[in-house]
Amino acid sequence: MSPLSNLAVRDIETVLHPYTNLDKHRQTGPLVLERGKGIYVYDSTGKQYIEGMAGLWCTSLGYGNEELVEAAAEQMRRISFTHLFAGKSHDPAIELAEKLKAIAPNDASKVFFVSSGSEANDTQVKMIWYINNALGRPNKKKIISRHRGYHGVTIASASLTGLPANHADFDLPLPGILHTDAPHPYRSRQDGESDADLATRLADSLEAMILREGPETVAAFIAEPVMGAGGVIIPPATYYEKVQAVLARYDILYIDDEVICGFGRLGTMFGAEAFGIRPNSVSVAKALSSAYQPIGAVIVDEGMYQAMVEESRKIGTFGHGYTYSGHPVAAAVACKTLDIYERDNILGQVNRVSPTFLKRLTALGDHPLVGEARGMGLIGALEIVADKATRRSFDPKSAVAAKIAALAEEEGLIVRAAFGDIVALCPPLIISEDEIGEMFDRLTRALDRAE
Ligand code: PLP
Repeated sequence: MSPLSNLAVRDIETVLHPYTNLDKHRQTGPLVLERGKGIYVYDSTGKQYIEGMAGLWCTSLGYGNEELVEAAAEQMRRISFTHLFAGKSHDPAIELAEKLKAIAPNDASKVFFVSSGSEANDTQVKMIWYINNALGRPNKKKIISRHRGYHGVTIASASLTGLPANHADFDLPLPGILHTDAPHPYRSRQDGESDADLATRLADSLEAMILREGPETVAAFIAEPVMGAGGVIIPPATYYEKVQAVLARYDILYIDDEVICGFGRLGTMFGAEAFGIRPNSVSVAKALSSAYQPIGAVIVDEGMYQAMVEESRKIGTFGHGYTYSGHPVAAAVACKTLDIYERDNILGQVNRVSPTFLKRLTALGDHPLVGEARGMGLIGALEIVADKATRRSFDPKSAVAAKIAALAEEEGLIVRAAFGDIVALCPPLIISEDEIGEMFDRLTRALDRAE
């Protein structure tokens, strides 16, 4: 191992890292990234990497976009901070709310601003509780999420998240938050089961959970259209149709977590459109500003809004909001981001290059280490297995996906290890066909070295 750089040593001395094996980090130190342009980022030694994960599933317009830089600078010059509390407002927030209402996949009524996906989903939980109190049904408060779903790390959003590492030793999930099965065909399909059969079995199991708990106690269901951090899990056909039929039977609201799928990732503006999902409420963040500023939003329908109005009339306020809810600089950058998506036809771009992405991705399904290669739009994953025929996984201790991610890094490509044996890809949406070719060449070299 090469000696640690001065920056790496200073990092080890001072920075407490999120989502990191803190013990191992003391030996390995960080990869210090210094600058970016287009789909490329560069470390402190000048080495170039393709950012195959768009940062953390978020830098859709890539790096060094001068229009976004200018939008931030211009807003800072005009008024660097004002807020939305107690009836104050500002034009970037109003404009952004209008833009989101116009494109949202629900029957959008109002937009509540936050700074992250976790804050969005925490807000969803609080709104659901507040609304059911307003509606005079204080026992209808439970929320059903899914194993392997990812919804954030604040106390409520981490409870919604269905990944063991987010619960273990944090004393989570909170009571009243339940997890139903993930719609993961590769891992959960039974012998001879069709997509439609699997979807029916999953919807039946959700219904059984609702009946066990008592439908009068279940308020909402939350899901990402395609699960991201849980391993890029694409549900079987008819899954959402069947799930929504179950929810409708028991008056259960649908919260659509579009934090990764939103703004073109799957080739549609929202994942909901790709799967025929008709949500009551929507969470967005990440690509809303292409990660040039931290901003997210909760977009509620008229029914939810009216219940909140009623309750705030009764008790005097809607007592929720963050200092940075609708931060004007973040809102101005998000407005510019949405303008660029429209002007540059980002959906057209995704749908133009996606076939090349999916062709190169699925070709890796023939690699001896790959049990399944799956993708949609510009997101994909490789399920790494010890035995292709039996789908046997590697021993989790071998951290096979993390090893492949480390080899990819040596080859000049950033990918992400998810769930121990999954390698995820989620490049900036601006990636060209040639760059997709280069990305898969580098990934193939890493896989060959891992054999
Ligand atoms: N929801 C989804 C689907 C996500 O993928 C994430 C983050 O990856 C979150 C919520 C949480 O967002 P944040 O990390 O901005 O709090």
